[in-house]
Amino acid sequence: GSGARDRLRIAIQKSGRLAEPARALLTSCGLSWRESRDRLFCYGESLPIDLLLVRDDDIPGLIRDGVCDLGVVGRNVLLEQDIAVRREREASVFRELRALGFGGCRLALAVPEGWEWRDPSQLAGKRIATSYPQILQQWLDGQGVQAGVVELSGSVEIAPKLGQADLICDLVSSGATLAANQLKPVMTLIESEAVLAGPVAAFDDARGELAELLLRRLDGVLRMRH
Ligand code: ATP
Ligand code: ZN
Repeated sequence: GSGARDRLRIAIQKSGRLAEPARALLTSCGLSWRESRDRLFCYGESLPIDLLLVRDDDIPGLIRDGVCDLGVVGRNVLLEQDIAVRREREASVFRELRALGFGGCRLALAVPEGWEWRDPSQLAGKRIATSYPQILQQWLDGQGVQAGVVELSGSVEIAPKLGQADLICDLVSSGATLAANQLKPVMTLIESEAVLAGPVAAFDDARGELAELLLRRLDGVLRMRH
């Protein structure tokens, strides 16, 4: 960022699965904003904590660039971009501050229903479609398996039918989408949920105390929800 700042800026998803629960959680922490549901920016009223409404994929980068101070994002997205950053700079720039208890899902390998699944060695030489190439490649490396990673930004679940890949690595919650595409989950790579993300480096101005205040309130709210 540039210069000392006395307001905290939190990035949340503008629309999608995490948008409403993120807002509701921050409201439970006593935050309120001058309302602007359709706009990008919400000005904090009860505390100097503002919201930026963005696409979830942009949240880690906004924290990295100091445009936002904190963000609510799926662990899957944070981890994917963290691996990319670490490949580049060998150190993380953002970290998970708290798990938030909503947006639960898992990143899993799913294969055509006819496959008989035994173990990861079966993946050698196969093509795997995913929107999470970094997490998948890191996992494959850990397994010592060489497979092809086919990066797709959406509609991953139809890739086997289209002949683009032999199997997929995708987010699963109920499994209904997989079943509708004659796929079955066989292996979980990561368990995910929405998390509060922040920078590795500490704030050196008034934002530090604001972030601590927010975390104290958040811990109180999360404890009560359990
Ligand atoms: P955006 O427009 O912000 O890019 P998106 O389409 O990428 O939105 P959503 O589908 O709203 O994102 O999902 C946001 C997050 O919700 C995911 O990254 C994941 O952490 C979580 N999630 C929970 N269950 C599921 C699921 N069944 N499928 C996909 N994401 C899920
Ligand atoms: Zn997205």
